[in-house]
Amino acid sequence: MGRIRILSDQVANQIAAGEVVDRPASVVKELLENSLDAGATRIRVEVEAGGRKLIRIADDGHGMGRDDAMLAFERHATSKIRSSDDLLSISTLGFRGEALPSIASISRLELITRATAEPSGTRVEIAGGKVLSVDEAGAPNGTTLTIRDLFFNTPARRKFLKAESTELSHVTALVTHYALAHPDKHFELHSATHALLIAPPVKHASERIYQIFGKDTLDQLIQLAAERPFDRAGLPEPPPWRRDEDYQPPDPGHLRISGFVSKPALQKLNRNSIYVFVNQRLIRDRLILHAASEAYRNIIPPTSFPVVLMFLEMPPHEVDVNVHPSKTEVRFRQQALVHDFVRDSIRNTLMKARPAADFLAALDSHAHASPSLMPAISPLPGVALPVPDSELSTTTIETAAFDLIPPAPRPEEVKLPFATAPAERAGNGLSVAATATHACEEQILPEADEVSSLNALASLKPLGQLKESFILAVNDEGFWIIDQHVAHERVLFEKILREREVEKIQRQRLLMPMLIDLQPHQMILFASLAGELERNGFEVEPFGPHTIAVKAAPIGLEGRELERMLMEVLEQPGTTAQSENLDTVRTRIAASIACHSAIKINTPLDPIRMEWLLKELARTEHPTSCPHGRPIALRYSWKDIQRAFHRI
Ligand code: ADP
Ligand code: MG
Repeated sequence: MGRIRILSDQVANQIAAGEVVDRPASVVKELLENSLDAGATRIRVEVEAGGRKLIRIADDGHGMGRDDAMLAFERHATSKIRSSDDLLSISTLGFRGEALPSIASISRLELITRATAEPSGTRVEIAGGKVLSVDEAGAPNGTTLTIRDLFFNTPARRKFLKAESTELSHVTALVTHYALAHPDKHFELHSATHALLIAPPVKHASERIYQIFGKDTLDQLIQLAAERPFDRAGLPEPPPWRRDEDYQPPDPGHLRISGFVSKPALQKLNRNSIYVFVNQRLIRDRLILHAASEAYRNIIPPTSFPVVLMFLEMPPHEVDVNVHPSKTEVRFRQQALVHDFVRDSIRNTLMKARPAADFLAALDSHAHASPSLMPAISPLPGVALPVPDSELSTTTIETAAFDLIPPAPRPEEVKLPFATAPAERAGNGLSVAATATHACEEQILPEADEVSSLNALASLKPLGQLKESFILAVNDEGFWIIDQHVAHERVLFEKILREREVEKIQRQRLLMPMLIDLQPHQMILFASLAGELERNGFEVEPFGPHTIAVKAAPIGLEGRELERMLMEVLEQPGTTAQSENLDTVRTRIAASIACHSAIKINTPLDPIRMEWLLKELARTEHPTSCPHGRPIALRYSWKDIQRAFHRI
């Protein structure tokens, strides 16, 4: 007898389950997607013991008739595609026909379903892949699936489950994401003891964000909306000699982006707050993550990440979702077009909004340098993100689930920066004033009509300097503090990039060449950067095996600063020019020149110079932050000032 045997369905299903179902959240994902595909408008999820003991999902979708209810548990049984051609344009969330048989093979499952037109419903019971019973049953319209004792017959899997609270926060994150993608539907999530999410249908995504995360988060976000046509290239078309007279080429369709991106003042420690939905499917895609980071380059520090809720819509044939069993990865047909469109849309949005950083928000962004918008764990089952263990163990589920919902009230001191921020640092007890405002807490909430934009910078009147380092200025919007060094840095940075583009950087010859000794790895880096340095106004030549001679440099960069700047550019740990693309090299060099030529702190400025600097800053594209991502201008709004003095 031969050695090879065909596996039983039960084993095959368990193997498939290994790919699709690795934790309770992945069961919830599959079942939620089924409910959405069934056209549900109300979805209620219930879990016990983080989903190990029980997961129940009830929907009001189109349900199933008796035959379908049985067929649904066969391997590769699906109502969503018929032929391989359908794979080229998938418009449902599911299509593999694997989820139900896989889940049924590793749990005790009960399905109760009634198709809209049928007088009665069907109840199916399965345990470990074996059908126990199929009965007629009274049931409301729609489908309810109950999964008990997940992994009861696969102990190896069960061992990998994390603490109940961790599993629950994965489930919570997941339901939250689907709720965000479908604001027009009703979502509920309940644990045995708590209602974790109740989101009735709303018209607009912003209202959903408000429901889930609250006003503070919404205030930190800028709305995103853009569209462009796809290129026609590569769409199947008959050759010219086979076309009819009235042949119409296929419509390549549009790429649309909508959603929200964070103001630069809101920064996160990792990418976990970047949510990307493609045709309402939550995905994790390197290309899009990269485009989002690119959009924020030189606006927030390279070590920080924005909050992004991005919804991309495109014709189904532009995106292949059949890449990964859990359908969390996709492939775009026109990768470069999608990447650049995402990057440019976000960048343009930021450039137009030019949001002014509020003094309170700026203080806040440090105090609350929260790891992510939502649980510091991967929102997608099967996609591991590095999470320090301590983070998980110290966050309880309530706070972990909605990290940013009503942020815990801060100590009163922080809310009254005039009275207490300096006092806090000085350690004396001026917080009496703060306590007094406690009673009118509601008034401290920012109001929606306060739109702050850095366009107001042009109208600023400088009053003077604080410690010869910060420019103090006023206009009708309020009172502003501008960091003179980073402001000038931003002005120079954009000027250098502009002039570099047209090769117009002004250089000055040094009276004596400056000799700088380099380490061997720096010599290598220098060799690869020499061309770019030259285009930035440098004239630098090797001078022996370990030394370079600087003969000319961009105007404004001199002496110690010139040397420091070059050392900085040649001292990127672990960088070789090959690993950086040209754009990164350019901006890195421009940022470094700008930093070392900019007005320093502790430098007295006369009113004319201050005015000049503010005017120049107003003209920059991104006056929000310096090329390294620090804020440039902070504002005490007129409202905050009045509030602080109890005038409103
Ligand atoms: P897929 O979603 O890939 O088609 P599944 O195994 O998840 O495969 O589901 C199999 C089939 O069962 C679906 O194609 C659908 O017809 C039916 N089905 C599953 N869940 C529901 C539901 N909640 N409401 C109505 N039909 C459902
Ligand atoms: Mg499915």
